[in-house]
Amino acid sequence: MAKYDMAIIGGGSGGLTAARVATALGANVLLVDKERLGGDCLNYGCVPSKSLIHVARIVQKARESASLGIMTANLSVNMTKVSEYVQGVIDRVAEGEKVYTEGVTVKFGQITFKSATELVLNGEIFTSRNTLIATGSRPVMPRVEGLEEVGYLTNESVFDLMNLPSSIVIVGGGLVGVELSQAFERLGAKVTIIQEQERILPREDPEVSEAVARVLISEGIDIVTNARFVKAGRSGNKKVATARQGDQLLNFEADEIVLAVGRQPNIEGLNLEAAGIKYDKKGIKVDDYLQTSASNILAIGDVIGGYLFTHVAVYQAGVAVRNALVPLARKKVDYRVVPWCTFTDPEAARVGLTPEDAEKQYKQVRIVKFPWAEIDRAQAENETIGFIKLVLAGKKDEIVGAHMVGARAGEMLGEMALAMQHNLTLNDILGTIHVYPTMNTGIQQAVFEAYLEGAAAASNRKIVRTVLSLRG
Ligand SMILES: Cc1cc2nc3c(=O)[nH]c(=O)nc-3n(C[C@H](O)[C@H](O)[C@H](O)COP(=O)(O)OP(=O)(O)OC[C@H]3O[C@@H](n4cnc5c(N)ncnc54)[C@H](O)[C@@H]3O)c2cc1C
Repeated sequence: MAKYDMAIIGGGSGGLTAARVATALGANVLLVDKERLGGDCLNYGCVPSKSLIHVARIVQKARESASLGIMTANLSVNMTKVSEYVQGVIDRVAEGEKVYTEGVTVKFGQITFKSATELVLNGEIFTSRNTLIATGSRPVMPRVEGLEEVGYLTNESVFDLMNLPSSIVIVGGGLVGVELSQAFERLGAKVTIIQEQERILPREDPEVSEAVARVLISEGIDIVTNARFVKAGRSGNKKVATARQGDQLLNFEADEIVLAVGRQPNIEGLNLEAAGIKYDKKGIKVDDYLQTSASNILAIGDVIGGYLFTHVAVYQAGVAVRNALVPLARKKVDYRVVPWCTFTDPEAARVGLTPEDAEKQYKQVRIVKFPWAEIDRAQAENETIGFIKLVLAGKKDEIVGAHMVGARAGEMLGEMALAMQHNLTLNDILGTIHVYPTMNTGIQQAVFEAYLEGAAAASNRKIVRTVLSLRG
């Protein structure tokens, strides 16, 4: 019977990172995936979506180039070529990820728990001191009349399209639905978003949702809010998505229906009960150390719910491996500073609290908003839509949140995440020389505005006035 220090179930973002970290620390690691390595992020998520968004952005730039005197006559999109490009990126990233399994025993198949220390794979029994579950999530399938018969796409099939549908209904106005909607509209499809809630990107600050919605609408996307997808059917060669909005039934005809209504954890078939692992429909239950109800079994990534991002799964992998292999130096997860980005154009990036959340937690909250159009680089590149919104709390103006809509906002967010993680102050950012003219100068400008409007500037003004008056 083979024996491992750590068995990892699921070879996606979280599992691969955990395998590499655990192996680097000297553990004997087994990594099992049910089909192939890379997970959602590589095969059906971040990598293909960002590649498609890149192509769509080039198409959009080409369309807009006439205003710069650049003529691109007869612009057309060859979807087969686009799909080849997307697949090429996946292949190249997969190649780079091979380093994660060096020194790791990798096996494929359906693995099940026999007990908290024994696992069965393809009829073979393994024992493992620790097991890490990182099986990710899959799209939620809404139970809607006629949907199975009519057919639909999800993130697992939409990136394989070899022909561009002329029209698409996207059900779901969260991060995935919104990113896909803009990419497909720019490539040339007519896109409608059906969103059950009152706005798209409902987790974001309302001004962020509104700014992104305005851009999408200006590019031709129809956004139908407060509308629940209730029925699918056919009309001629078109699919029909029916949504209930109030007491009205609205019909939307399209070539394809794409579902992006949320995620559900991959927990089926693992026989979690045999190991005493508790779970519910949101996923596997873990404590602050990422331990499940069976203390030698930990879980990370989408399968535990919460923040469904690759960078969070990767962060958790580091914490979980440390907690499993070095229990005396156990560490709690810390979600105080979790950045994320919706990769629309312009991007919508966020770290920390919204103004609304901050008001609930702090007595004194100050919001500083700075327009993207005042960043010189943004003017130079005609990327002027958006804003930076800083959420400051307490007498000392602690930075507790940053929200940005703007070109390359996702890249810029790193500075704010670093500042928040290390409790840096507005003065620390202000006193750091930023390269001019970069988009990042905008952060320094926003922080300067915050300083000018704040108590520190008022007291400095008082001091300077006193010094000047003493000088006569
Ligand atoms: C369209 C889309 C775009 C996204 N874009 C971004 C983005 O830009 N940035 C970002 O941070 N996040 C993004 N995400 C989210 C990101 O993909 C996930 O948060 C991330 O992949 C989670 O990592 P994970 O390790 O938990 O799961 P995964 O990476 O999905 O890995 C899970 C692995 O477990 C395997 N598995 C499942 N069940 C079993 C089983 N029973 N036995 C063995 N193996 C099993 C699967 O085959 C898979 O390989 C996006 C998601 C989608 C859908």
